[in-house]
Amino acid sequence: MKFALTDRVAIVTGASGGIGRAVVEELADAKAKIVIGYAANVMSAQSLANRVTASGAEVVVAQADVATAAGAASLVQAAVTSFGRLDILVNNAGITRDGLFLRMKEADWDAVLAVNLKSAFLCGQAAARYLLRSAAGRIINMSSVAGVTGNVGQANYAAAKAGLIGLTKTLARELAGRKITVNAVAPGYIQTEMTEKLASELKDRLAQQIPIGRLGQPEDVAAVVRFLASDQASYITGQVFQVDGGLAM
Ligand code: NAD
Repeated sequence: MKFALTDRVAIVTGASGGIGRAVVEELADAKAKIVIGYAANVMSAQSLANRVTASGAEVVVAQADVATAAGAASLVQAAVTSFGRLDILVNNAGITRDGLFLRMKEADWDAVLAVNLKSAFLCGQAAARYLLRSAAGRIINMSSVAGVTGNVGQANYAAAKAGLIGLTKTLARELAGRKITVNAVAPGYIQTEMTEKLASELKDRLAQQIPIGRLGQPEDVAAVVRFLASDQASYITGQVFQVDGGLAM
């Protein structure tokens, strides 16, 4: 099988959301064992678990707020307790609290930085001692094109996603000698709960700005995560992979 992850153990944060679900399905298809991390939507996490288990995957569902050190530690503990090891960490949890900079509330800045950026620091630190024991450790951070180009109304989100890119490159340098690769994926506009709230005229306008002519699907992003997690990507680290239909070139 191409891009196989047989017996590798992965944590996916924010796995009850659109991209997280697709990442879990893709990694399960690659035969990884997976901790399905979710914040609140237990129904979605459990039905995802039932679906992939029915096709033979081994998964465990774990509730955790990844913006806290205790939450990050509990996800890592779930991996080690259930599967005895950890090879892949996908820092995918994210939120938006959009607003123009001049009116942005401090609480919205703090919440977005905590869930999108601090979580990757906390989960990365909690995971590191187990990833160091893996022959092919992987950290994959879900950034955004907003972190590359900036975006009106998203000062908090763009700063967090740009911060993730800096974190990715630094960890890539620090951990390269320990056989751990660290990369970021930067999606453009992907059809999930996060973009569902956008008005349909705005979505039509956005699609016109995308050279490929459509919004992305979670599967478009998940395929890149699977590749980066695989042995075939062992010589790639510190990179940012835009999955945006050519939106930002
Ligand atoms: P989504 O809203 O469907 O999923 C986000 C998930 O993160 C949800 O399951 C949510 O419960 C979880 N989450 C939120 N706060 C959490 C916390 N404190 N602890 C643990 N989990 C928490 O959105 P999505 O589109 O699937 O987004 C997934 C990732 O992709 C996010 O990091 C997002 O910023 C990024 N992204 C999305 C798009 C897009 O267009 N959809 C574009 C670029 C980047």
